[in-house]
Amino acid sequence: MEFTGVSFDVQRSMFNVPQRILRHLNFMSIFYDTHAHLDYPDYAKDLTDVIARAQTAGITKIISIGTDLESSARAIKLAERFACVFAAVGWHPSNAHEAPDDIREPLRELVKHPKVVAIGETGLDYHRLPGGKPGGNAEDDARCKQKQAEIFRQQLEVAIEAGLNCVVHQRNSFDDTFAQLKPFAGKVRGVFHCFGESADRMRRVLEIGSLVSFTGIVTFKNGQNVRDTVAATPPGQFMLETDCPYLAPVPYRGQRCEPAYVREISETVAQVKGCSLEELSAATCKTAAEFFPKLK
Ligand SMILES: [Zn+2]
Repeated sequence: MEFTGVSFDVQRSMFNVPQRILRHLNFMSIFYDTHAHLDYPDYAKDLTDVIARAQTAGITKIISIGTDLESSARAIKLAERFACVFAAVGWHPSNAHEAPDDIREPLRELVKHPKVVAIGETGLDYHRLPGGKPGGNAEDDARCKQKQAEIFRQQLEVAIEAGLNCVVHQRNSFDDTFAQLKPFAGKVRGVFHCFGESADRMRRVLEIGSLVSFTGIVTFKNGQNVRDTVAATPPGQFMLETDCPYLAPVPYRGQRCEPAYVREISETVAQVKGCSLEELSAATCKTAAEFFPKLK
């Protein structure tokens, strides 16, 4: 076991958890949801309850991830409303076609906010390219890929200027995403979120100083490949997330996901790693605090 076995007392002081929450948790190990989409309409009716359930489950910090400028602004508003919510601002590759040619200036404004902890989500997504749609062709695909790469590069630039890291989305595009991030190693780190790739690819990500994070897929019956990668990922090199409203873990699979379910994810990950929840809590929260320096 590579965990250092940080005691509860040390852990408490390390993460500065308010007494009010600690009493409530009754020494329950805490976790963060490092990737949630709280601004989505899925939560319009009951967000206060969703946040309260997360706190009760010991999920003390939640990062709401922007997918375009409006969504990023909404994430900031939520961070202003709830003490435990933080924001990442960026433009998702799936919406790249709707992005202005240059998104750097508005992002530079948004990152000034004290609760903006990262740029993202950004990256490349080749899963649903326009060429596959009726009337689409290879040229459309090439144009779309180029636009995605362009706004990914712009977001890496803003992240470096702001001293922040990036939340990286990739789907069917690992090699290109990795190749685009690699030259920036040493200047900016990425977290390859919702990681479902092989242990070999995980090691390549870690080699350039980036990280991976795991979702509820680790609990799925058909998620053995992800559990294998979790088993191979060293403590201190990965974080936990829901990617809610998507990917609810077992036993909620198929339902709307929410940050409280990091609890179920953490239980499976601890089992796979053969460590205690306290050890997993200490390692993943420390990793997140280092990766997101404004997450305080
Ligand atoms: Zn996401």
